Amino acid sequence: MKLILLGPPGAGKGTQAQKLVSKFGYAQLSTGDMLRAAVAAGSEVGLKAKDIMDRGDLVPDEVVVGIISDRVEAPDCSKGFILDGFPRNTAQAEALDKMLDEKGMNLDTVISLEVVEKDLFQRIEQRAKETEGGPRADDNIKALKKRLEVYHEQTAPLIKYYGDQGVLKTVDGMAQIDVVSAQISNILAEV
Ligand code: AMP
Repeated sequence: MKLILLGPPGAGKGTQAQKLVSKFGYAQLSTGDMLRAAVAAGSEVGLKAKDIMDRGDLVPDEVVVGIISDRVEAPDCSKGFILDGFPRNTAQAEALDKMLDEKGMNLDTVISLEVVEKDLFQRIEQRAKETEGGPRADDNIKALKKRLEVYHEQTAPLIKYYGDQGVLKTVDGMAQIDVVSAQISNILAEV
């Protein structure tokens, strides 16, 4: 199973991806997590990405496309993978299509988590409180506003992109966590 979880920051992509990891053994490929690990490790990618991430902008496409391209064929992806936070714009989506095509793979589905935007601030505030080791550098009001702006400008057009490809499904991301995961499991059972 190869799927994308799509949605704005705080929509629950990471939470739902983790549920799918424990339920089905898919790999969670979160570009945000990978970039945060690179920042923590002080690698070249991390040094390049840190300031961009802190202010809520997108890191360059070639960086994230390269990271994902290295990961999709790893052994832990043998049962499938969940793309969480990637692609983030049309150029990345096109690069992903090309990459999967070249590797003889294809996407099974794209699941869009629909949320009420004004509630995301409260969710992110809650996440900032609950994150082990302290809040993420970009879980603050200023960076969140920027991330939402970037989402609308660059990521939201992917709803149409995947709708046109006929692979888009939507779920109510405001429902309880277990209700959302049941909806996602139902979709996966049918694709
Ligand atoms: P996330 O954990 O998905 O909310 O991502 C945190 C930050 O990492 C984003 O605000 C971006 O700065 C960066 N990032 C994560 N994924 C991508 C991506 N696919 N393209 C560009 N930047 C990304």
